[in-house]
Amino acid sequence: MAPAETTTPKKALVFVPAPGIGHLVSVMELAKRLLERDDSFSITMLLMSPPFAHDVTTYVEKLSASHPEFQFLGLPSVPPPPLEDVIACPEHFVSIFIADHKNHVKDMIVNHVLSNKSVKLAGLILDLFCTPFVDVAKDLGVPPYIFFASGAAFLGSMLYLPDRFDNGGVTYKPTDPDSMIPSYINPVPSTVLPSLLFHDGGYSTFVSHARKFKEAKGIIVNTFAELESHAVSYLNGEASVPQVYTVGPVVDLKGNSPVADGSQREEIMNWLDAQPEKSVVFLCFGSQGSFGVPQLKEIALGLEQSGQRFLWSIRRPPSQESLNPGEVNDYSELLPEGFLGRTKNVGFICGWAPQVEVLGHKATGAFVSHCGWNSILESTWYGVPVVTWPLYGEQQINAFQLVKDAGVAIEIKMDYRKDGGEVVTADKVAKAVTDVIEGGGEVKSKVKAMSETGRKALLKGGSSYAAFETLVGVLSGNKA
Ligand code: UDP
Repeated sequence: MAPAETTTPKKALVFVPAPGIGHLVSVMELAKRLLERDDSFSITMLLMSPPFAHDVTTYVEKLSASHPEFQFLGLPSVPPPPLEDVIACPEHFVSIFIADHKNHVKDMIVNHVLSNKSVKLAGLILDLFCTPFVDVAKDLGVPPYIFFASGAAFLGSMLYLPDRFDNGGVTYKPTDPDSMIPSYINPVPSTVLPSLLFHDGGYSTFVSHARKFKEAKGIIVNTFAELESHAVSYLNGEASVPQVYTVGPVVDLKGNSPVADGSQREEIMNWLDAQPEKSVVFLCFGSQGSFGVPQLKEIALGLEQSGQRFLWSIRRPPSQESLNPGEVNDYSELLPEGFLGRTKNVGFICGWAPQVEVLGHKATGAFVSHCGWNSILESTWYGVPVVTWPLYGEQQINAFQLVKDAGVAIEIKMDYRKDGGEVVTADKVAKAVTDVIEGGGEVKSKVKAMSETGRKALLKGGSSYAAFETLVGVLSGNKA
């Protein structure tokens, strides 16, 4: 009798992303790259329904259709925490919401992964907000990894929080003097710290996330060592920090834009095709970015005053009906009278933009950005200089890092905050936009060099290539 054929079980990796576009984009791309590198992995994504109606469902459906190689499992929905918490501190709100999925995460893994005899669970890869599931991994006897969808310097600032807290450090105040945070080169002004650190709940939640990071087997960071050499050296030199894998830039170059309806894509790209090389300023503010009418009008006047070509993504501010920004039906209601007519030869206004494609277009000369980490990596990839206009999350400190520590961006603002009531004037917008298109020589050459370095980092012999190889070895169980 012929011996029964035995097949080696696949190594199952369970990813738990946070339910936000900026977090999903890079985690999907990382999973794709792991599978391309080693097809003995089996990838399962546990997806949370967002707390309120959100376009992310479209993204998930789109991804399920386009990634049949992954298993997507929807976690049962949990009731969102009180709405006041979102307004007071979104990160605190999201952390509580995610933590409430803990039992569902464990049940889902037990019932849909461990029960499958053709796979062997090799590890959990958890978003930075998903640290309560570190304990799930431990209960199941597998290693937990954190996937950090922001930079190494911000990771360093988080890992520094528990020490600060244990030494009596309380919630920060915007009026505090500058702080020495070891992962940044320059003293950090309190005005660029993330808003969550000014809030009791946000601060204590992040102290607790950071403590959990230290219990992980490793932290995978979407960056490359040369972009943040100071921060990466700091992290590598800290005994209490687990192994850090800098595997970036992990950028979805196909631009699987999660909420793109595609309707304007062709029009936008055709318009760009007709513009001179590096002449267009692209303004786009992330998945959650929007401005009130007074600020929109100042931006419009500034762009007009500058005379520069522009592609501007405008989204409607959240309202009672939707907590997320949405598409605008009639731009003329939001902009100065006659603006659309006067700028029709030099400007194009759109809703959700095919950002990656726009940044990769030869006509794009600069990017006025909210400094979300994916946006930073995407513009670095294409060597497009960033003009910083942060709004929420850790974007202010990202802007500070780009402008002050790395010298690869130009400042409109580093300390602007969405809903902070500040209105940046037209003059300031006009000056920044003109400076970056007509000048900005030093920053432009640094960004170009960084773009080349980032691309090389991913190639054989590069820093991220090496980190990725080590990570694959560890996840496969071939390395300690
Ligand atoms: N994005 C896009 N079009 C838009 C706005 C955003 O394609 O109009 C994409 C952008 O390319 C990036 C992601 O959405 O991949 C936003 O991530 P990021 O980390 O920059 O910011 P977040 O939305 O998390 O604040």
